[in-house]
Amino acid sequence: MSFQASLKLRRTWSLVALLAVAANAQAQRLAPIVYTISAPVPESHIAVVDAQVPTERKATIELMMPVWSPGFYRVEDYAGKVQDLSARTPDGAALIVEQPQKNRWRIHTGGAPVVVLSYRLLCTGRSVTTDWVGEDFGVFNGSATFITLAENARRPHEVRLTLPAQWPQSMTSLAAAPDGIANHYRADDYDTLNDSPILAGKLSVHEFTVAGSTHFLVDAGTLGEWDGALAARSVEQFVRANYAFWGFVPFRKYVFLNLFRQGGGGLEHLNSTLLTSRFSAGAPGGNLRWLNFVSHEYFHAFNVKRLRPVELGPFDYERPPSTTSLWVSEGLTSYYGELMVARSGLETPADYLASLSSHITSVQASPGRLVQTLDQSSLDVWTAGTSGVGQDPKTTVSYYEKGPIVGFLLDARIRRLTKGKRSLDDVMRLAYKRYSGRQGFTADQFRATAEEIAGTNLKDWFHRALASTEELDYAEALDWFGLRFAAGADAASQWKLEARPDATDAQKANLLGLVGVHMPGH
Ligand SMILES: [Zn+2]
Repeated sequence: MSFQASLKLRRTWSLVALLAVAANAQAQRLAPIVYTISAPVPESHIAVVDAQVPTERKATIELMMPVWSPGFYRVEDYAGKVQDLSARTPDGAALIVEQPQKNRWRIHTGGAPVVVLSYRLLCTGRSVTTDWVGEDFGVFNGSATFITLAENARRPHEVRLTLPAQWPQSMTSLAAAPDGIANHYRADDYDTLNDSPILAGKLSVHEFTVAGSTHFLVDAGTLGEWDGALAARSVEQFVRANYAFWGFVPFRKYVFLNLFRQGGGGLEHLNSTLLTSRFSAGAPGGNLRWLNFVSHEYFHAFNVKRLRPVELGPFDYERPPSTTSLWVSEGLTSYYGELMVARSGLETPADYLASLSSHITSVQASPGRLVQTLDQSSLDVWTAGTSGVGQDPKTTVSYYEKGPIVGFLLDARIRRLTKGKRSLDDVMRLAYKRYSGRQGFTADQFRATAEEIAGTNLKDWFHRALASTEELDYAEALDWFGLRFAAGADAASQWKLEARPDATDAQKANLLGLVGVHMPGH
């Protein structure tokens, strides 16, 4: 970025800060948009939405539906699922609706203080960003569900669910509405609403509390032999490891919305995650793969939902942002998601090394590592594939795979430079302290934070790891942790990490410092 552009950006940000203060005051007096969602015939996959939209007596109001979902780097056509959209006054007089863009609607209010917007949603999506309505449950994701005012204001949004008889309850991280009625929720602003998926239907709920924060594991779908209580106990373990790591839990309530259905993937949210899971017959409480997957999404509540690259928020739901820092937001989330499973005692150090080895094997087997840099992989996410998955390994490198490896190598470097006194853990905690929330970090600020902890300049190291296609150098990490690559003849075992049989006591201690159990009381 040029100096001019950076100046302009800074000016924009101070303006954003001013607007935020103004918007806070504004939220106190802005009337809410109130949505009523029903699914009278769930088998039809149709949801019916009515929204009461305040007009502030304007002659026309402009409404908007997002074209992407934060955290999921793909432009999607949510507006394409909207059917039979119409608007009327509260006493039923029809109003004129124009559609200047595919995802925008303009309503001539006729001077009414509130207009009632009605639309139907075709809910046949099984991804973590789309809506589903079916016999057993319904999933409502923010971007796919809520048409809102195109405005720059912190306006409250309320949701009232009218559930069909076969859906006994709903779960979401949203706060209860002031009316205290079941299945009525309220968000202070659209960002919160957008970031809080809602699951309704036949739900199996298990809860536990860590540091005063209640966590819910909510299972739905084809449960079969799934043991939700057992799974919740394992999830609680790595939640406690996160508490031990960060020293706090930044929410009072967190919800794991765990669906057993076709498809796959998970998406992080501010105080929840939406997961599409599978389980193998032998692991009714979740196998290590599932635990690593869920642990990744949970670590995201800290890393990306709160500690985030400056580009990733506040969001423009019609213009997707680009950043070079997905190696931090996704790569380090994978690194720590897996470490939290190890540090909570749910897996052995050898299990952990197997996960790390699979990342190394994947990168070292991909010719794209010599073509695309990690920075570029992050910048290209909107054009190169879906969220870094399914890209062409000949020309691209995945930040999900190379990111955690760079995390591991950087961690080893900091530990060696500080003789084991500091680590990447300290970088994450310091970065969180400085840049979480509305602030966000630039790539340079993240590097400077790492340099401060390491006590030395890391510019060349970062350049090689992030901005070049040079091969990664594993020697330092292998030496620090007393590891080696197994001397297998086949390609699959070539990059398999194992403890050296002749590792010194210091090396063994270094490895335990990384993957040993780190839990309160241990
Ligand atoms: Zn992720």
